[in-house]
Amino acid sequence: MTLVSTQARTAVYPGSFDLLTNGHLDIIERSQKLFDRLIVAVGSNATKASPLFSVEERLDVLREATDQWANVEAAELQGLTVEFAAAKKAQFIIRGLRAISDYEFELQLALMNHRLNKNIETIFLAADPTNIFVSSRVIRDVWRHGGDISEFVPTATLKALERKSKTA
Ligand code: ADP
Repeated sequence: MTLVSTQARTAVYPGSFDLLTNGHLDIIERSQKLFDRLIVAVGSNATKASPLFSVEERLDVLREATDQWANVEAAELQGLTVEFAAAKKAQFIIRGLRAISDYEFELQLALMNHRLNKNIETIFLAADPTNIFVSSRVIRDVWRHGGDISEFVPTATLKALERKSKTA
């Protein structure tokens, strides 16, 4: 038997998750069925100024929302995703695709990651049509303006939002 066939199939699902939506959760639920171990990796994302939630808060929300799946864990992502994945012995990176607008950036990212580490494959999961228009940014904006976002996010996110000021 080769080493590869005995190795746990591990995937990393990286993102900002500021805030966790049902779109993210759907990708997590479907991915955890495909892999032995799924690590949801929370990056601070320097290009996204003034985050709503700290990385610690996002990790707490993720852990609460995914506690029904024993093979899912949440961790902070620092540095390159491929290096994080290699350190965790992950062979796959998961990304969700909502629309053609996601595709171009995601393709660039996947090709760059493949150039950086040929042993790690990016797997794309198509967004569930119910969540196709759901993005953290839009949901954050609706929430800030007092709109009802309860059908777009898990309970753990709603609870975390109750502790936040809308002007934050
Ligand atoms: P967002 O784009 O909502 O700010 P992230 O940067 O945290 O979210 O995205 C992390 C990953 O999750 C990306 O691959 C993104 O395409 C995917 N994703 C985000 N929202 C959805 C959704 N509604 N359905 C499927 N995938 C999604």
